[in-house]
Amino acid sequence: MTLTFLGTGTSHGVPPIDCMLQQYASCPQGVCRQSMLDPKHRRTRSSILLRWEGASVLIDSGPDFREQCLRENIPDINAVLITHSHADHIYGIPDIRSYTRHHPIPFFGSHESIAKIRYAFPYIFDPETPVGGGIPRITTTAVDAPFALFDHTVIPIRVNHLELDGCFGFRIGPLSYIPDMKSIAPDELKKLSGTTFLVLNCLRRGPPHPSHLTLRESIELARAIAPQRCYFIHMSHDIHYELDRAGLDPWMDFAWDGLSVEI
Ligand SMILES: [Zn+2]
Ligand SMILES: [Zn+2]
Ligand SMILES: [Zn+2]
Repeated sequence: MTLTFLGTGTSHGVPPIDCMLQQYASCPQGVCRQSMLDPKHRRTRSSILLRWEGASVLIDSGPDFREQCLRENIPDINAVLITHSHADHIYGIPDIRSYTRHHPIPFFGSHESIAKIRYAFPYIFDPETPVGGGIPRITTTAVDAPFALFDHTVIPIRVNHLELDGCFGFRIGPLSYIPDMKSIAPDELKKLSGTTFLVLNCLRRGPPHPSHLTLRESIELARAIAPQRCYFIHMSHDIHYELDRAGLDPWMDFAWDGLSVEI
């Protein structure tokens, strides 16, 4: 299985417009200025593409989806997993129409996520909408238990992300992917047991955040899951790729946009 990090940023992306409006004067570690020269510090909204024999599976489709497809030259998408319905994870969905010309694409997510997608983009699902090139052909399936997808089993992991109901991470074989979370119940944590490749939320160094893990918490959770490899994602401009790496264990790293790894 090949994993490509399409985006590794938090909901604002890096650099965030807010930082630009202040001429980057308040940027915590100079990350946003560095992002102009160094792609490891330029972070679009979090999403990954997984590829294995006969399958190309996207997890989340945020506002940068179009740019990510062009940058990575993605030829096809066979299925989409949605972690949750926040704007930074679903507002690229209209652009998936380019991949649905020859076949509809199935979407999978929690009942809550699927309901929010259908509410956010009613024209996609309204049978009265005239058929045309502007309408993605999407089917939706609400899931809350493991399901088969192209010879692999996908296990939804329910995580706590502020007040949002139906926020998932996903386990697929050795990989566990959790872009947004604050905490996880013991029963759900058990489902991560045996993960060898972990991709985990890591918003900033601190202070604690109501809906996201911060660096210290991310490191502690990663150590508890104890994979062979861990990449942190969904980062703000407070995480500096070189400076903050010094505090990571050797098997941890910060991901960057465009990184591809074999699992
Ligand atoms: Zn997010
Ligand atoms: Zn900044
Ligand atoms: Zn979120």
